[in-house]
Amino acid sequence: APHSLAPIDGLSHVSGDRGRPLLEETIPQALARTVARFPDRPAAVFPAQGVRVTWSEFATAVDDLAAGLLALGLEKGDRIGIWSPNRWEWLLTQFATARIGLVMVNINPAYRLYELEYALNKVGCRALVTAASFKSSDYLGMVAELAPELATSKPGELQAARLPHLQFVIRMGEASSPGMIRFDDVAGLGTARERARLDAITASLDRDEAINIQFTSGTTGAPKGATLTHSNILNNAHFVTAAMNLTEQDRLCIPVPLYHCFGMVMGTLGCVTKGAAMVFPGEGFDPEATLSAVAAERCTALYGVPTMFVAMLDHPGFAGFDLSSLRTGIMAGAPCPIEVMKKVQSQMNMREVTIAYGMTETSPVSFQSHVDDPLEKRVSTVGRVHPHVEVKVVDAEGRTVPPGERGELCTRGYSVMKGYWDEAEKTAEAIDEEGWMHTGDLATIDAEGYCNIVGRVKDMIIRGGENVYPREVEEFLYRHPKVREVQVFGVPDARYGEEVCAWIVPAGEAPSEEEIREFCRGQIAHYKIPRYVRIRPSLPMTVTGKPQKFVMRDEMVGELGIA
Ligand code: AMP
Repeated sequence: APHSLAPIDGLSHVSGDRGRPLLEETIPQALARTVARFPDRPAAVFPAQGVRVTWSEFATAVDDLAAGLLALGLEKGDRIGIWSPNRWEWLLTQFATARIGLVMVNINPAYRLYELEYALNKVGCRALVTAASFKSSDYLGMVAELAPELATSKPGELQAARLPHLQFVIRMGEASSPGMIRFDDVAGLGTARERARLDAITASLDRDEAINIQFTSGTTGAPKGATLTHSNILNNAHFVTAAMNLTEQDRLCIPVPLYHCFGMVMGTLGCVTKGAAMVFPGEGFDPEATLSAVAAERCTALYGVPTMFVAMLDHPGFAGFDLSSLRTGIMAGAPCPIEVMKKVQSQMNMREVTIAYGMTETSPVSFQSHVDDPLEKRVSTVGRVHPHVEVKVVDAEGRTVPPGERGELCTRGYSVMKGYWDEAEKTAEAIDEEGWMHTGDLATIDAEGYCNIVGRVKDMIIRGGENVYPREVEEFLYRHPKVREVQVFGVPDARYGEEVCAWIVPAGEAPSEEEIREFCRGQIAHYKIPRYVRIRPSLPMTVTGKPQKFVMRDEMVGELGIA
């Protein structure tokens, strides 16, 4: 297709700029380039762990770990799982595995026994890097429960009935544990022999080979392992940070989880492509720790999902943090309410903040707004299509719709994953024969190529034959001064098929159900006005800020006694 940011052939079909070429490197080559350019500039800060390294120190630590992993006998192509919150060891593992072509498998810190077992076995992990614990969860206890054989086996000689592929458990933290290897000890295992192999292995890597498997967020069905190449994620990281004009002068605060593409692709890899410093405020998201890190490290950029920005803006001590160093950042991962975007620009000093839209399967970003876009578009849309990415909006029959009409968003180009690991059928359902990834998101693309995400295909409510897009109702309700957060979803109804329900987290005093409905009357169509309104202290969300509407729906079904 020709590249054009405006609709091609008068249809909702756009194709990103190809003025700047794709990077033709692998991840370790990109890191080496940055290390050579900015050896003494800051690379990473983990205040809670007391870690502060320059790019050359980072490269040394990465090579030490990579050599140690080789000494264990791990080889290019082997899968190695990582189950940990945001820690220095995570960052090292990401780049040490990439250095020698090990396929890193991100395991969600929220996973528990069943999901951990599933993920490790699904992709056949030979090694697992695990934190000792996170919040109140005893990770080592869970690993020991899955593999009781660890208690009696020598490190590296594990043969566990429930985890047949797993040979090594590499654990973070101080104490030793039978059968496991201490993370800090691995770096010491590499000898001159392994070190001498590093460059040759790096040179043998192909940028179209798999380097990372990310289990998708699980808001829909069983987790699937999106398999991504160097080229997929390195290029996306490059264009994401280019859109923010990030340079080696920037310091990016990363409170989003590393196991997710927002942290490890848009965050760490994005910084590596520009030489910007990475600042990690803590293991999990905490509004106060994030605001403190921004102020203390004079961060120039900040990432977050909408709920994180809401939590920071609402923090009682908000006004006391000096955020004057901030310039840019990204809000993404879930619908970004206009009111929140406006506050982030005016109250957090993030005047150049951008919105990005993407999904794990597309490495992840396909649309991103830009500081040069008209202000109205910057707060109300996800921007225009990313470089080298092609996008169309199709109706239920697969026909591309005219600009402004709703339909399912489809993506094609370098950023589309290789596929779901060992799931040929599910891959074929997601990516059609022409290479289009069907996102499951409902979108519109306007005459200038700006995109609006209007909901999930399956979240659309059909009430008495009328389509209700929850996103639209949510945006409207956000204007109510007593609404801090809101989610709208459908519940089954005998008469109308479905009814509209809103769950609201109040900002201070809770609004009454009637007050909310009164606010809607005359402003939005009657069939969109929530029949049910519930006030909640918080809403069920995944750690990446995705509302779990199925949880809300189930609870309402129970409460209302409907089938
Ligand atoms: P994940 O694979 O976990 O990154 O989730 C991807 C999904 O998050 C997408 O399919 C969208 O439903 C949602 N999403 C991501 N970014 C945005 C955004 N800016 N606006 C609305 N929804 C988004």
